[in-house]
Amino acid sequence: MLKALLIDLDGVIYQAAQPVPGAIQALEWLDSQSIPYLFVTNTTSRPRDAIVARLAEMGIQVKARQILTPVIALANWIHQQDAEPLALFIPGDTRKDLHEFRQVPEDAESGAGTVVVGDLAQGWSFEVLNRAFRLLLSNPECQLVALGMTRYWRTESGLQLDVGPFVKALEYASDRPAQVFGKPAEAFFCQALDILDVRAEETLMIGDDIRGDVGGAQTSGLKGALVKTGKFQKSDLGGDIVPDVVLESFASLPEYWMAQH
Ligand SMILES: [Mg+2]
Repeated sequence: MLKALLIDLDGVIYQAAQPVPGAIQALEWLDSQSIPYLFVTNTTSRPRDAIVARLAEMGIQVKARQILTPVIALANWIHQQDAEPLALFIPGDTRKDLHEFRQVPEDAESGAGTVVVGDLAQGWSFEVLNRAFRLLLSNPECQLVALGMTRYWRTESGLQLDVGPFVKALEYASDRPAQVFGKPAEAFFCQALDILDVRAEETLMIGDDIRGDVGGAQTSGLKGALVKTGKFQKSDLGGDIVPDVVLESFASLPEYWMAQH
């Protein structure tokens, strides 16, 4: 029996700066039924309070504590590790969520305890990627941390490379695996389940990414629902990952949920 939900944001609740039709009503229905849910997003382009503000502009009312981002998960991890100083390859705004930790100078090519890689988008260049590589090679103990492993996403101008391909390049060049915070990493889903205080088998993850959302959830013991909005493509169906359910959009969720109970 399903009891709780993990919900992706981009491509599920909103798309191209507009709410997905019926999504706000579906969220209101979840609230009216007291069904516990948490938004789990791989967004690393802005801090959590900016995500809340952006959703509010679209008429979607969400509290910061209802959102788990890779940066929040990373901050929890740093508190338990000897991981400083950090070398951050993440967008400027997101650094706000990590201001409490020591960092290497902006042009440093050595001395980092952890190299953190996020969705730098147009901020990537050969020089920037190579500096991350040099930081890793200069210290065998330096850890590589990835804020998600999403391969690409859909922008208004078309598909765009996300964080994953850059992390793969650094893993290959430095010959060390990345510690991943964000979907589809199991540690990230476990942190989300802990926050809601629910078990994996009674939780449904709903997303538009067949690999990051659905595949990651299923590998972690959750059920996975795929919506046909956002980055969904017909080729997502019939592949190696089979969603537990495919929904036209998030607006279809209440009907599906009621049929399960
Ligand atoms: Mg998405």
